[in-house]
Parts: sequence; structure tokens; C-alpha cells
Amino acid sequence: MVVAIDGPGGVGKSTVARRVASARGLGYLDTGATYRAAALAALQSGADLDLPAAVTTAVGAATIEYADGAVLLDGVDVSEEIRSAAVTAASSKVAAIPAVRAIVVAMQRSWVVDHGDGAVVEGRDIGTVVFPDALLKVFLIARPEVRAARRAGDHEAAGSAVTEIQAALEQRDHADSTRAMSPLRPADDALVVDTSDMTLEEVIAEVLEAVDLANDRPRLL
Ligand code: C5P
Repeated sequence: MVVAIDGPGGVGKSTVARRVASARGLGYLDTGATYRAAALAALQSGADLDLPAAVTTAVGAATIEYADGAVLLDGVDVSEEIRSAAVTAASSKVAAIPAVRAIVVAMQRSWVVDHGDGAVVEGRDIGTVVFPDALLKVFLIARPEVRAARRAGDHEAAGSAVTEIQAALEQRDHADSTRAMSPLRPADDALVVDTSDMTLEEVIAEVLEAVDLANDRPRLL
């Protein structure tokens, strides 16, 4: 049983997904963290990020694991390191490479299979590509200035000006929405929630209600 939560950066996906998962006793997978780990693997190897083959070789040679909310790269906990501005910027570039996505998506699908009871999976293409048969697909949106202000409150953005954060977010949104493979977009059957003028608790309540409704819905096999 998969609940897919997709949307652009800074919209609050991680917080909402984590809270929904814990409220319903489900696993939680942050797929952005897996692309960030892939980007870090590429950076550490010294691969030229403009050369897809070199990046793919570096990512293919790396072991990326996700356990208890921590991301391990070759056995080392890199949960903090993947939040740096350099890794954030590299992640969108690396995530646009189809062969990298094939490696990372395979890892995401097997993580969910290993966590049999169900999971809330957060990302950009979970409802459209990774789990098109998800029980529920949620697509969160918010105005760019609202997302930048939210991100400014994160540890990741400590010390950066809101205008700078907004520019970086918009650049990443553009890259993520215009790439050829698995672009950021809502699935046709996604519940799109504009969170711009909602509190976090209101968003969580709306998603939980949708999860419960979807669970009660008769399923056609
Ligand atoms: O969600 P987060 O900001 O950690 O994601 C980092 C980057 O990873 C995104 O900007 C996007 O390029 C990529 N990503 C993706 N598909 C996902 C999750 C993240 O392409 N499912």
C-alpha cells in the first residue's frame, strides 16, 4: 500500500509525509534523499556532471541505502552532507539522467517491497512513474514565495536570504519540470492541494482524510 506525495521543493512534502506515515503506522521513504545521495556519489568520484555516462558509472558503483530516515552512501551516514547547497544543485542535474533514474527507482521500489505493510513515498514522480498504482496520490503545491519562506525556516537553508532561496528553488523547479524523463507533474488522478494559505496541521488533516477514504474505497483488482 503506497501513498504517493509529490510536489516541488519547499512545499512541505517531507514534513507532511513523515507525519502521515507515523499517524497511520506506515513506512516513510524520502526519494529526494536517494537522488541527493546519487549526486554526492558523483561529486565524490570527481565525475563531470555534464557527462551522463561518467555520472552513471559513479552512481552504479555506489551503494545507496535508506534506513530509519538516514541515508547511507557506501555504508557511511551522509544524511547531513546531502543537504549542502552543492549537493542540492547537483541533485537536479544527476536526477535528469535516465540511466541514473533507472538505478535509483529500482532501489526505491525494492525498499517499498521490503517494507511490506505500506509506505508513504515522497518525491517528484512517485504517482506518475514509480508507483502509478498507488492507493492515493497527493500533489502539494504552494506559491514560490511561500515555499521560499518555508524553506528559510529549514536547517538546510540556515543563513541564506529568502530571495536567494526562492531563486534556487525556482531554478530547480524549472529543471525538474522540463526534463525529458519523469518530469515533475501531477498524475491525472492526483489530489492536488494548494497549501499556500493552509497551516501544516490543515494539510496533514486533509491528507489523512484522503488516506482513510482511499483505504475504505472498494478496490478493483
Ligand atoms: O526532494 P528533494 O529536494 O530532496 O529532491 C532533490 C532533487 O532530486 C530534486 O530537485 C529532483 O531533481 C530530484 N528528485 C527527482 N525525483 C524524485 C525526488 C527527487 O527527480 N522522486
